Amino acid sequence: MELTLKDKVALVSGAGRGIGRAIALELAKEGCKVVCVSKNIYSCGKVAEEINASGGTAEAVAFDVSSPAECKANCAEILKKYDTVDILINNAGITRDNLLMRMSDEEWDAVIATNLSSAFYLCRNLVRAMMGKRWGRIINIASVSGQAGNAGQANYSAAKAGMIGFTKTLARELAGRNITVNAVAPGFIETDMTAALPEAIMEAAKANIPLKRAGKPEDIANVCTYLASEESNYVTGQVIAVNGGLYM
Ligand code: NAP
Repeated sequence: MELTLKDKVALVSGAGRGIGRAIALELAKEGCKVVCVSKNIYSCGKVAEEINASGGTAEAVAFDVSSPAECKANCAEILKKYDTVDILINNAGITRDNLLMRMSDEEWDAVIATNLSSAFYLCRNLVRAMMGKRWGRIINIASVSGQAGNAGQANYSAAKAGMIGFTKTLARELAGRNITVNAVAPGFIETDMTAALPEAIMEAAKANIPLKRAGKPEDIANVCTYLASEESNYVTGQVIAVNGGLYM
């Protein structure tokens, strides 16, 4: 299937590495102008350079998506330059794992702010422009942890479950303006985030996956690219699990 995406403006948060990087590269391949956002200019800058070097169009903008003030200021600059953002991918995320009894306020707050509040801040600043264009795509990266829970991740699974409720509500609020809002829930994907897990945990996780392997960032990017395209126009308010069958 040919996807219709050419010349759309896409903002990908957490585009510096892993899943966000793969999404940025794939959207650029389909002809989007990609705004690559990450915390560190070196990581999103490298991805934007990679896209531009291969004939695509990208720009790197580094800011902290957990800060409402930084989101407001940077979104205003981005809108001034591009007029709108057609496709918003809320992908930036961190883990601060701990069992409930040992979890600090800082671990809780950092994960909620980065993985959930960031999506609220970016949507609040960008949705008006999408509404004006009567076209938009919002894709929120959730997680199997938000669907099934995961011991040691009370903060992370609460944020990701929150992302699912946020997705469904925005889908209802924005449908009348032809803006679709969906969540993608990855299982275990090979990135820096999972590289930090002990080998034994990764091996045990893989043994539980019906497809018997971890996913690749491109597996998530392919689904996001479809959801970002014109061809997904009747899909909204959904959670698409991309997890090798780990949770059905
Ligand atoms: P990753 O490799 O650790 O990359 C995370 C990206 O998010 C980086 O580019 C990082 O920026 C950016 N980021 C983190 N905090 C930020 C902040 N405050 N402001 C701006 N950017 C920030 O992670 P990943 O594995 O690709 O995960 C991407 C998303 O998928 C996350 O939401 C994660 O929860 C979700 N997910 C991942 C898996 C998995 O198995 N990997 C499974 C389910 C869901 P810098 O590059 O500048 O540091």
